[in-house]
Amino acid sequence: MKNLAPKLSLKEYENNFAELHPPFTPLTAKAEAERCLYCYDSPCTKSCPTHIDIPAFIKKISTDNLLGSAKTILDSNWVALTCAKACPVEVLCEGACVYNDKGEKPIEIGRLQRYAMDNYFRNSSPNIFTFSKKKNKSVGIIGSGPAGLACSAELTLLGYDVIIYEANKIPGGLNTWGIAPYKTRRQDSLKEIKLIKSLGVKIKTGIKVGETVSVEDIIKKHDAVFLGVGLGKSSELEIPGEELKGVYNAINFIEKVKSENWNSVKVGKRVAIIGAGNTSIDAATEAKRLGAEQVYIIYRRDTSQMSAYDFEFLLAKKDEILFYFNSAPKKIVGKKYVEGIECIKTKLISKGLKDKPKLTVIPKSEFIIPVDMVIKAIGQKSHNNFLNSIKELKMRDGKVVVNKKNYQTGNAKVFAGGDCINGGKEVVNAAYDGKMAAHGIDEYLSN
Ligand SMILES: Cc1cc2nc3c(=O)[nH]c(=O)nc-3n(C[C@H](O)[C@H](O)[C@H](O)COP(=O)(O)OP(=O)(O)OC[C@H]3O[C@@H](n4cnc5c(N)ncnc54)[C@H](O)[C@@H]3O)c2cc1C
Repeated sequence: MKNLAPKLSLKEYENNFAELHPPFTPLTAKAEAERCLYCYDSPCTKSCPTHIDIPAFIKKISTDNLLGSAKTILDSNWVALTCAKACPVEVLCEGACVYNDKGEKPIEIGRLQRYAMDNYFRNSSPNIFTFSKKKNKSVGIIGSGPAGLACSAELTLLGYDVIIYEANKIPGGLNTWGIAPYKTRRQDSLKEIKLIKSLGVKIKTGIKVGETVSVEDIIKKHDAVFLGVGLGKSSELEIPGEELKGVYNAINFIEKVKSENWNSVKVGKRVAIIGAGNTSIDAATEAKRLGAEQVYIIYRRDTSQMSAYDFEFLLAKKDEILFYFNSAPKKIVGKKYVEGIECIKTKLISKGLKDKPKLTVIPKSEFIIPVDMVIKAIGQKSHNNFLNSIKELKMRDGKVVVNKKNYQTGNAKVFAGGDCINGGKEVVNAAYDGKMAAHGIDEYLSN
């Protein structure tokens, strides 16, 4: 990179990446728990993809039964600490809280869940689980993200021997390598992995199925296989200049940030992020927290069409990220290093009420934003080659096709869940898929 952002002191980095939502104290947790109305129809539980019995775990906090509270949470969600800190609660459980209708602040369900889970891990994760009789059958899980972890933990309780094959050196998928450090730290994910390993799950890291070992061998070796491979690297922009020094893909950049070795992450003085989804917001706010002087988000459509949540958009604005809407990147400018990004203005043209408006460029509206770094965040590619190599498995629009009832793919022995079947949602969706797929696998192997 031509112009690097100046390095900060360790204290400044830690301040910049401080938690967005600090933990409750015992007193404030109890006060918040006692505010809950324990609604009979619990809209919060209905809106949680893992259907945690939220009124029940909150009630247990109010009666100082913290272990019971953690048990209620873990019964539904194996990565509950990560979810407590990273779930978009504003659009899930807290968004459904009846207090919103009364014009009052919703119950802080995420922070209460974190309170119970922090207490559970602080007390060395006591064994509160019931195991079924051993089945003498084994399941191979490919990928140790939340989908793979949830599936493995549930299968172990159901009596199966489980081995997770993970390409990375450190397991956990995006919980370990992706989620913004001001939401969760790597340590949170590692605590959940330790718990799942303590149930008997084996995790083999540094094994990329399809390269280190063939997928056929894994399918032959086990009675069933679960695919929790998530998505791959960021998509390319396919514009001139992408090869210049200073062009990064968001997933690689975020992985480096997530190592928490702040000093070692290179960031430009002026950074342009391409795309306006949640990953773009993360890349932008992380670049800013690492010391970038100016960060821009460039998006070819307008605010109404950006996929980032409103609260993420707000966070970016608070971090003084500047937005260029209706601006499509045309070329990355520079000789050897990035010096700028050339964009062209766009507009939506409607041809009639029936037709969807079409995005068109405004001729001769090009402009250049001088930047030192470009981060591509326009979505992730799927692991097409690997997935297509699995016999009888069907793909549609880059997603693995599964039977929604039991998560079975076209190959009867192979099940799948998480981002690889939904194209990229949230941790909580992957956790639910993994757990439900475990029951699908159990049913398949029991018949
Ligand atoms: C930058 C970023 C930030 C995010 N922030 C949030 C957030 O704040 N809150 C939230 O709820 N969600 C967030 N998400 C979404 C969330 O992280 C994902 O939905 C979730 O992690 C998907 O889980 P998964 O198990 O399907 O896949 P992943 O977490 O991607 O895990 C897949 C695992 O499979 C492994 N793997 C892949 N191929 C192979 C192979 N051939 N052999 C062996 N192993 C393999 C990978 O190394 C990886 O460990 C974010 C996503 C991104 C990209």
